[in-house]
Amino acid sequence: MTARASQRDPVRDAMSAGGVVYRRSDDRIEVVLVARPSQQLWALPKGTPEPGESVEATAIREVGEETGLEVRVEREIGSIHYWYAVPEERVRVRKVVHHFLMTATGGDVGRHDHEYDVVEWMDIQEAMARMSYQNERSIVERAEALIRERSA
Ligand code: ATP
Repeated sequence: MTARASQRDPVRDAMSAGGVVYRRSDDRIEVVLVARPSQQLWALPKGTPEPGESVEATAIREVGEETGLEVRVEREIGSIHYWYAVPEERVRVRKVVHHFLMTATGGDVGRHDHEYDVVEWMDIQEAMARMSYQNERSIVERAEALIRERSA
């Protein structure tokens, strides 16, 4: 019998960190998305901390591994929250993901790890159209405002 999620399952807290890596020329802003096209999943790179690692260090490492880029943090963007069930473990996960605005200092998206099938720079509007999760789209919207503010 397959396990079913229940509102009575205990809650586990989880945290991840990731970011919006951007580059710009004149008015055009491009950002990096990671994807599994067969699952129609387009998302921001992110991942979970190693023991003792700071939130910012986690974001730099996870974004680096998943995109193949060496990145530095410009500033925080904000956090998103969501819930999901893991019926096999009989838990409901309450997750927070912290996002940072980042630029690439080296590397290449061709060198990404195997977590995702596709890693791509794309126009920020195209990225928002493709993204799977509305809460991540809001993070990219906020990133765009911060980038335009910075260069105003
Ligand atoms: P991480 O990349 O942080 O190691 P993971 O791959 O283990 O995480 P998530 O990406 O958080 O796990 O996915 C766990 C569940 O949450 C999946 O069912 C996924 O569809 C859903 N999920 C992922 N991102 C979001 C989001 N931004 N909003 C709502 N649900 C999401």
